[in-house]
Amino acid sequence: MHELAITQSMLDLVLEQAEKAGAREVGRINLVIGEMSGIVEECVKFYFDFISKGTLAERAALSFTMVPTMARCRGCDRLFKVKEFDWACPYCQGNNMEIVAGKELFVKY
Ligand SMILES: [Zn+2]
Repeated sequence: MHELAITQSMLDLVLEQAEKAGAREVGRINLVIGEMSGIVEECVKFYFDFISKGTLAERAALSFTMVPTMARCRGCDRLFKVKEFDWACPYCQGNNMEIVAGKELFVKY
C-alpha cells in the first residue's frame, strides 16, 4: 500500500507549490513514473481522488508519464531498453550493466 504514502506526499508537494504561486486551483498534475518503481497508476488515481477532496487540487487532472527501464552495457557502452526478465545486452550479449533510468518518481508539473 505504498501508493497511499506516495500519493499523499505528491499532493503535499503540489499544494505547497500552488500556495507559493498563489494559485486558487490546481488544474493538472503530471507524474513521472519509472517502470521499475512498481507504482500502479490506478492506485495513485484512486487515492488521489480520496485525499484531494477539499483541497486546491480537488479537480486537478492527473496524468502519468511512464519511463521505460534503460541500461548501459559496461561491455560495449551502449544504451538499451531493458525487457522484463531479459538482462542481456542486445548488442554484445553481455550482462554487466548499470540501470540508468526506470526508477523515477516525481512530479513533473
Ligand atoms: Zn553490450
